[in-house]
Amino acid sequence: MDSSYLNTLLEQSNVGDPRVIHARAIRTAAADRCLHHRLITLYSKLPGLLPYSGRLFFTQIPFPNVVSWTSLISAHSASPAALRHFVSMLRQPTLPNHRTLPSLLRTCAALLCTHFGLSLHSLSVKLGLSSEPFTGSALLNFYFKCRSPRDALGVFDEMLDRDEVCYSAAIVGLAQNSRPVDALSVFAEMRRGEIGSTIYSISGALRAASEMAAMDQCGIIHSHAVVTGFDQNVVVASALIDGYGKSGLVLEARRVFDENLPIMNMVGWNAMMSGYAQQGDIEPVMELLHKMEGGGFVPDGYTFLAILSACYNSASSAEDVERWIARMRADYGLEPGLEHYTCLISAMARAGRLEDAKRLALAMPFEPDAAVWRSILMACRHLGDADKAREMAKRLLELNPSDDSAYVIASNALSTAGEWDEVAEVRKAMKDRRVRKEVGQSWVETRGRVHVFMAGDRRHERRGEIYAKLEELMSAIEQLGYEPIMDEMVHHESVVEAEKRERLQHHSEKLAAAFGLLEGVTPPGKALRIVKNLRICRDCHEVFMYISRVADREIIVRDANRYHRFSGGVCTCRDFW
Ligand code: ZN
Ligand code: ZN
Repeated sequence: MDSSYLNTLLEQSNVGDPRVIHARAIRTAAADRCLHHRLITLYSKLPGLLPYSGRLFFTQIPFPNVVSWTSLISAHSASPAALRHFVSMLRQPTLPNHRTLPSLLRTCAALLCTHFGLSLHSLSVKLGLSSEPFTGSALLNFYFKCRSPRDALGVFDEMLDRDEVCYSAAIVGLAQNSRPVDALSVFAEMRRGEIGSTIYSISGALRAASEMAAMDQCGIIHSHAVVTGFDQNVVVASALIDGYGKSGLVLEARRVFDENLPIMNMVGWNAMMSGYAQQGDIEPVMELLHKMEGGGFVPDGYTFLAILSACYNSASSAEDVERWIARMRADYGLEPGLEHYTCLISAMARAGRLEDAKRLALAMPFEPDAAVWRSILMACRHLGDADKAREMAKRLLELNPSDDSAYVIASNALSTAGEWDEVAEVRKAMKDRRVRKEVGQSWVETRGRVHVFMAGDRRHERRGEIYAKLEELMSAIEQLGYEPIMDEMVHHESVVEAEKRERLQHHSEKLAAAFGLLEGVTPPGKALRIVKNLRICRDCHEVFMYISRVADREIIVRDANRYHRFSGGVCTCRDFW
């Protein structure tokens, strides 16, 4: 018997217990290095046999080479032992190759060993391996997993032969790390470079587009999916439904859903339901629930989240939300999670049941997070309940002392209640603690391009026209009786009134609206769509109600909380957001 016979035996799909072959190898002294490496790998894949791989390595491979070490390190992937074996390997000394480093980087990503990973990166640079595809992709994934998208992009830019796998990793990673603009630009670069796409790059790009509620981008990626034949894939189809749904194009989402009904999975069903839910369209959510159950699917936590948010967004009563949570428990045996509770708490708070909402937040089996307290705080602002607002702001700040939203909403609540001294105190506290408001960004899509604006932004190539348009709109609405709403937090106490007014007037969403109306590409009668990363401020909300009248256009704003549809001088949120 020789080693090639044993190697063939190992290759057969149903090896059974590799120890049998190992024993034969020892008995006949017919093993070679290659067989040993294979055994190490096999031992790591079978439950309970991992210790054999270490024993084999240390007793039967007298002169391990880099391949032997790599098999041992890979066998212990995702455990600290892999890193220890690597250090022993360096002591030999044996240097890692393009197979060793990716395996180690995967371990670092799994264990979130940032420092070790950084050392591996520098070692790979010294060895000239960092730009090679295997190591490069592993570095990319490592940085994405450690939430350092900037470093990941650095690696990506230095990679030499970027294939579809590298591009997919970059697009998916950027989308997961909330860098949708970068994800979409890498996707565009990939298409320009005529690199093939995969279901991962397409669904990653769709995820980015859906995070930005960028409906034109969804359409562009959709056509690309049709051309490449990936549109019939269930992962891509459900990403399309999610993207269209989040962009507010529920009918488009429904078309994709109906076309792919036979292959639809739970992700797709839930995405379709939450698309309707986001619009507060409760009837189709119910219709889909029945269909889904009829098709043999069992509703899960996400399904119920869609149902609950449909109730919330359609302004159903808090009792409706309570009833659904009770059904979820009793009829489906599902325990509500934090997000389900948050939905109920928000509904109670909105109905003015502030005390009930607070009691539930403290009694539920989860630690209340910022979203819970913020939803009650927002209701306090709306109801002008200064006492409760103080308490909620305090709780929010206990969770995160530099939460800018706590200061801003609390100060609005206090000013609604006329507690001006305290408003000044909150502002001072915010200033003393150097809390900065998160940078607001708004964007519009025209002619397949996304235009991003920040407050007072002067980077756009058509800034002159944009500011002139805004000026024109503002004077038109002032004639209709618009008055600026100044109660939003302004940082610089010293700035004079005129400057405050100007700052207010140059908010990102106003610039985006001015640009959108200037472009006028959306045919008359079709809505102008703006997306904002934060909550729309009260002044902009007021301004948009007026603009929808003077420009005679429907304006849809998707902010961090919900959809606002402004038309004929009113908004669908009925001033509650
Ligand atoms: Zn604003
Ligand atoms: Zn609104």
